[in-house]
Amino acid sequence: MGMQRYKIKEIANIINANALLTNEEDDIQHLLIDTRKVEDPLRSLFFALKANRDGHDFIIDAYQKGIRNFVVEKSRIDRINLPDANFLEVEDTLVSLQALASYHRTQFSYPVIAIAGSNGKTIVKDWLNQLLSPDYTIVRSPKSFNSQIGVALSLWQMSDDYNLAIIEAGISKPGEMDALRKMIKPDIGILTNIKKAHFENFDSKQEKLEEKMKLFKDVDLLIYSPEYIPEWFQRTINSNTFTWGSEVGCDLRIKERIKTDFGTQIIIADFKKHSYQIEIPFQDDASTENALICWSVLLSLGLEQSTIEARMKSLVVVKMRLEMKHGINNCTIIDDSYSCDVSSLIIALDFLQQQKQHKKRTLILSDIPEIGKDKEKIYRRVAELLENKGIERLIGIGEEISRYSSFFKSNSRFFPTTIDFLKHSHRFNFHDETILIKGARKFSFESISKLLSSKIHETSLEINLNALENNLRVYKNKLKSKTKIMVMVKAFSYGSGSFEIANLLQFNQVDYLAVAYADEGVTLRSSGIHLPIMVMSPDLSSLEALIEYKLEPEIFDFEYLNAFINLLDKTEVKQYPIHIKLDSGMHRLGFNPEDLAKIVEILKVSDKVKIASVFSHLAGADDPIHDDFSRKQMAILNSFSQALSKELSYPFLTHIANTAAISRFPESELDMVRLGIGLYGISSALAQDNELETVATLKTTISQIKEINENDTIGYGRKGSLPKGGQIATVKIGYADGYNRRFGNGIGKMLVNDFLVPTVGNICMDMCMLDISNLDIREGDEVIVFGLNPKIEDLAKAIETIPYELLAGVSQRVKRVYFYE
Ligand SMILES: *Cc1c(COP(=O)(O)O)cnc(C)c1O
Repeated sequence: MGMQRYKIKEIANIINANALLTNEEDDIQHLLIDTRKVEDPLRSLFFALKANRDGHDFIIDAYQKGIRNFVVEKSRIDRINLPDANFLEVEDTLVSLQALASYHRTQFSYPVIAIAGSNGKTIVKDWLNQLLSPDYTIVRSPKSFNSQIGVALSLWQMSDDYNLAIIEAGISKPGEMDALRKMIKPDIGILTNIKKAHFENFDSKQEKLEEKMKLFKDVDLLIYSPEYIPEWFQRTINSNTFTWGSEVGCDLRIKERIKTDFGTQIIIADFKKHSYQIEIPFQDDASTENALICWSVLLSLGLEQSTIEARMKSLVVVKMRLEMKHGINNCTIIDDSYSCDVSSLIIALDFLQQQKQHKKRTLILSDIPEIGKDKEKIYRRVAELLENKGIERLIGIGEEISRYSSFFKSNSRFFPTTIDFLKHSHRFNFHDETILIKGARKFSFESISKLLSSKIHETSLEINLNALENNLRVYKNKLKSKTKIMVMVKAFSYGSGSFEIANLLQFNQVDYLAVAYADEGVTLRSSGIHLPIMVMSPDLSSLEALIEYKLEPEIFDFEYLNAFINLLDKTEVKQYPIHIKLDSGMHRLGFNPEDLAKIVEILKVSDKVKIASVFSHLAGADDPIHDDFSRKQMAILNSFSQALSKELSYPFLTHIANTAAISRFPESELDMVRLGIGLYGISSALAQDNELETVATLKTTISQIKEINENDTIGYGRKGSLPKGGQIATVKIGYADGYNRRFGNGIGKMLVNDFLVPTVGNICMDMCMLDISNLDIREGDEVIVFGLNPKIEDLAKAIETIPYELLAGVSQRVKRVYFYE
């Protein structure tokens, strides 16, 4: 957890910087790259990296938050303004961050394991931690920190408190692995696998393999499966190796896999001419592979087979992502009971801080099991964190945290066990607050999560917030840096959520939000959203609410304009921001171009309103057939806004681009764009945007499986049948959930255990039936209605609608659950 200290002058030497120091004795404990995550400013060193945003633009912000130590690139900073700060000037801040991490890593002589590969890195890392923690005190990359920056920050956590490090290494383009190897200097290397997915920046699978293998150039031991490395390439490996797989000659050679009726699997394999077996609580191929990798590592570290067997049995699935959901009494629950160490606590607290829907924030925290470390130091650090991150109250569970209760605020409460807490939980009267539940596995905090969550009907819409952030970045990168982004969060953010999404967008510093109705805006304001919000169809009756909640109306006719000014006349307010909508050809809402003179006349008389923006909407931006029309629309808006600009004494924004226009018409960018469907991972432009990630996954489960004879019929109107007989599964989703009735009779398909299976018979209100004949599918199995596969775009095509309708149509009774890594 980073108790290492360096003086700033030492760091200056290590990274070979041009040091401009006013306080050369400053102690540095934390490395910081994001000013939104400042926590212990005086002991933090801020690296101005040029990632998605240029860190140099945030130096003043960092300074105002108390940071006094900075690593910057040469001639980027005017130091005069910040007299009591230390600046280390370097050529390249990322290279310097890596140099510091690399130096820090060399201070420790305990083994470092590095993991690379296409899939499974994070799980293998976590399983090794589970399997080895009785023998070692392990420092490991938090979550999936495996990038050029993530690896540096992971290594920075190394300290004398540990005796083994496990570090993940991920690359996205050629040339990156050398930098990671130089930092990590691994003793043991693990290659999980090489999959075909994600070829983007690589010419071929082989190029990707060669790049990944660079990590292992100097390791003492490499653990891999020959199935993933061609033979000629294996001959170039210089280190000792330990191989696993089904091929002859593997050190750990798999002979047989037996699935039991209890959901477990027995794997039999040969090692040094003996036959051994392990039993794991998983049956799928990916888990099997990950378990074999872990088995190989334990054997090569010299663990006894009997110990390995015992530990393998109790492997648990790692929930890598924290989960946010609705709780009882209008609470929001953030459930992160997968791991409980200080670094993952920091990540969870940052997320808690970002979600502003409730003023009150409660943390339920268990003992932090970091074996062999100075306990007092750990809990002092936790107390400091809670103070800095503004936690209202703490509920501590466990004997250890209870022992240090005096470190925490006086309203904190402590219980020796989870059961004790559950017995007394009614006393807390949880309501209207955000509750972060963070506990080590053995404290079984699932039971607390269950108690505090509202009941989940088994159909849920899962929202991947990391994917949403990724998609926002993809569009930001397409735009000029000064172009503003308005994000359309109308209709519950296209069905995916309200303040949960808005809070994330606010955290990511978008410029504007837009909703359809005033009440949507009021909800956002009440949930801590202070971004400007445009309301597109305000009712005349809601004009007062607009003013009260500082919502900015779209004005599209004179009746509105006059009514709004009349209302403002009764108040002291002046220059209230409004948005003028021009109808340039969509023919929905908007002023006509010839209304210009009259608008100007009204605005010149009244100082009550001020035009914040003038905009129009494209009717066919996604289809080349309409490109001439789209360009005509842009021209109409441009001439209107130029004419208006001549009449007004102040500037305003002009905008027209929706998602498709951002991708297809760079000239439509203007001052601001209005991003909608693309944020949710759906490209409405014809050109496929393959950098977009899927945000929403609609899931349900199988309630019952039935045998069907060739003469039977299935469902209402007796529409369904299986002419050869077979099996059907009834699943808990119907048209009242938003699964359109037109998906019936084989038009819709769902994914169950990697099988894409068709509907059979008509869709009912709350249920429908799937044809699962002759497939290995059981009651209770998870069913994907849409997500990565099948894609919502394909479902939409199948019933001749658009993804917008399906996404926004998922009914509100389907619970939204948010995930964040
Ligand atoms: C919904 C909406 C958008 C966003 O459109 P997408 O196609 O989802 O990007 C933009 N502008 C207006 C006026 C809208 O109503």
